[in-house]
Amino acid sequence: MTLSLYDARSAADSIWVFLEQDRNSLTEISLELLAKGRQLADQVGWKLGGLILGIRNSELCSEAVAHGADEVWSAEHELLENFTIDAFSTITFEMIMEGKPGVLLFGATPDGRDLAGRLAVRLRTGLNADCTGLRLRPGTGELICDVSGFGGGVLALIEMGDHRPQIATIRPGVFSKTQPDWKRLGELIKFPVLLKAEDIQTRIVKKVSGEGVDLTQVSLIIAGGRGMGGDFGALQKLADILGGEVGATRPPVDDGYIERERQIGQTGVVCSPKIALCCGISGAFHFIVGVEKADIFIAINSDPSAPIFEHADYCVVGDVHTILPLIKEALQTRLAEEI
Ligand SMILES: Cc1cc2nc3c(=O)[nH]c(=O)nc-3n(C[C@H](O)[C@H](O)[C@H](O)COP(=O)(O)OP(=O)(O)OC[C@H]3O[C@@H](n4cnc5c(N)ncnc54)[C@H](O)[C@@H]3O)c2cc1C
Repeated sequence: MTLSLYDARSAADSIWVFLEQDRNSLTEISLELLAKGRQLADQVGWKLGGLILGIRNSELCSEAVAHGADEVWSAEHELLENFTIDAFSTITFEMIMEGKPGVLLFGATPDGRDLAGRLAVRLRTGLNADCTGLRLRPGTGELICDVSGFGGGVLALIEMGDHRPQIATIRPGVFSKTQPDWKRLGELIKFPVLLKAEDIQTRIVKKVSGEGVDLTQVSLIIAGGRGMGGDFGALQKLADILGGEVGATRPPVDDGYIERERQIGQTGVVCSPKIALCCGISGAFHFIVGVEKADIFIAINSDPSAPIFEHADYCVVGDVHTILPLIKEALQTRLAEEI
């Protein structure tokens, strides 16, 4: 097997997180990874570092420290204003070869996946993609990653042996962010950037922001499955009354009843709402992994032996088309009484 550019003996006792930004704030997945990184670093007595590439990073660096980073490696340059794989992989590679972190974490976002893959090849090390759990073995600092494999039928625990850094991408919504502590102190490492416009092949022509929903950030999800018979309007009405969002299993998405961005599960989004109300859903493993972190899990299903009832806190056996109108009516009566 090819040797990585540095190994376990020469790696520093540190976990680094690649931090993404949106409108001058760190993104939710960045905060989630800082929280998990802090927890792992504390367990083994390591340092937590954050990597920020951009044009004006000072506020982002403070935010990273407030969310747990001990040190922030900051690269500022006008050619780092937008993510381009040429510029970002060049600079992060240089940072990594200087700091030699033992572990390197990325969000499983379009940019995080792109960069992690490129760096793993350049550093000749391993990459565990789309992890849903992370542990560090005390003493050796080996990273153990939970990765679901074979279509979700097995959960594999994967390690990388002697290769460093141990790179992993983590799906948004898997870990919870923590509250910032603005009194925390951290070290700022300003990293010199030598980039020329001709180094960058990508040209940004236009930026288009999606207006879709991000179910990872929603506190009430009303999800429907095949048992809804395609009637997602009924779920939308309830979501409107309660201030929630509608989610779905894969079959109604495949059948075109609802947008793909609302699919929950292994090949959809992983959510951690306060309340998940699941209607006409059988409870297949592929769906459950996307919603099992809900604080309160309610299921409505006409089949009393449906597997979803093994996961639900509240189980309602009955026809969704009878029960949902009753819930809606009760809510409307309650709201009318409160006005
Ligand atoms: C590699 C792979 C990845 C996958 N990824 C995902 C994923 O990300 N997300 C996902 O959801 N699925 C995923 N799937 C599919 C998954 O295995 C299940 O097939 C799917 O979740 C089932 O969806 P469902 O519960 O809506 O449908 P069904 O399994 O058909 O269940 C419908 C349920 O509705 C109930 N029902 C029917 N009529 C009524 C009624 N009138 N009132 C009340 N209850 C009623 C039935 O009793 C039944 O339990 C994946 C599959 C594979 C192989």
